[in-house]
Amino acid sequence: MEDLTSRYQTDFHLKSTFWLSVTAGTLILPFAYYHLTYQHVGIGIGAVITSLSLYLVAWSCHRKTYKTIYTFIWLTPFTTFFVAYLTNLLGITGTYWCYSTVLLYYFMMTERQAWMSNILFALVNLPQAWQLFETHEATRFTVTFLLVSAYSAIFLHIIAMQYSELQKQAITDKLTNLYNRTLLKDSLEQAIHQANRTNTPFTLIIMDVDHFKKINDELGHDIGDHVLIQLGIFLKDFLRGSDKIFRIGGEEFLILLYNTDEADSINMAEKIRKGIENLSLIPDRKVTVSIGVAGLSSVRDWKHWMKTCDKNLYEAKNSGRNRVVVCKG
Ligand code: GH3
Ligand code: MG
Ligand code: MG
Repeated sequence: MEDLTSRYQTDFHLKSTFWLSVTAGTLILPFAYYHLTYQHVGIGIGAVITSLSLYLVAWSCHRKTYKTIYTFIWLTPFTTFFVAYLTNLLGITGTYWCYSTVLLYYFMMTERQAWMSNILFALVNLPQAWQLFETHEATRFTVTFLLVSAYSAIFLHIIAMQYSELQKQAITDKLTNLYNRTLLKDSLEQAIHQANRTNTPFTLIIMDVDHFKKINDELGHDIGDHVLIQLGIFLKDFLRGSDKIFRIGGEEFLILLYNTDEADSINMAEKIRKGIENLSLIPDRKVTVSIGVAGLSSVRDWKHWMKTCDKNLYEAKNSGRNRVVVCKG
């Protein structure tokens, strides 16, 4: 599931990094101007470099080419030593920048990179504070710095966990725990793209439970649900981790078989059909399924691919149910 959710996480990450970089880059500019004109030119130059670096980050987010490693290898060491330089020149007022810098790390990098950046920042800036300031000032700075670091780490960790849980829920069918339709189009397009690039064979299977309405009508909706849940478990156990299984309708499932040509898929579909027939999901009654199979034909369009597979399923239903049909689309 990770590879499919990562794109959405990246979009979220890019947007937050973009706005934080623009805000921080802009707020630093008046200080850069002030120092360049009236005070320490060195601080002014450092502030301009920080601001430009943040705008570059924002630009790469806008173009969707941002990589957290850029921030880690450039902005982390630069801001660490720049804040130390500021504190050295300005005294306690220089330390005010520590708090926003540490918070920024957590938004702009992965949790691990942010932790490492935070440690580097503390190793450089805390000992310096103990050298420069009175004990009561150094103590207060150390404690408030550690509190802000800890709060940022905990807060961002909770947000990341909640976000990933929400994304998972958005793409998961609640009854069967399989994928719902949300990522169907993306997954098929991704498969077509990979097939075009690497010649990897992909096959689609669409499976529909036979006379499912009868099961509901005669035995109740709960038994119908039980059948669907058990079918989901069976498919997950039977298929490989690389194959993707979707529940695309009430009692209709779609399977995207990775690196499997049409001949192997027919074998696989037959095994699924027979396996389900022998499952004994309901006492004294067989649950059977009809299956359409379609390899990726020369017309490489996801809608066409699904249509072909659907046609084969329709054929399986029309020719008596409880069977597998494959024919070229
Ligand atoms: P066929 O062999 O032609 O596929 O016939 P069928 O009865 O399986 O197909 P039909 O489309 O007539 O009925 C599908 C039924 O699936 C109707 C609907 O009430 C039921 N259904 C849809 N979603 C759910 C669900 O989540 N739980 C249960 N228990 N039933 C569902
Ligand atoms: Mg049905
Ligand atoms: Mg159906």
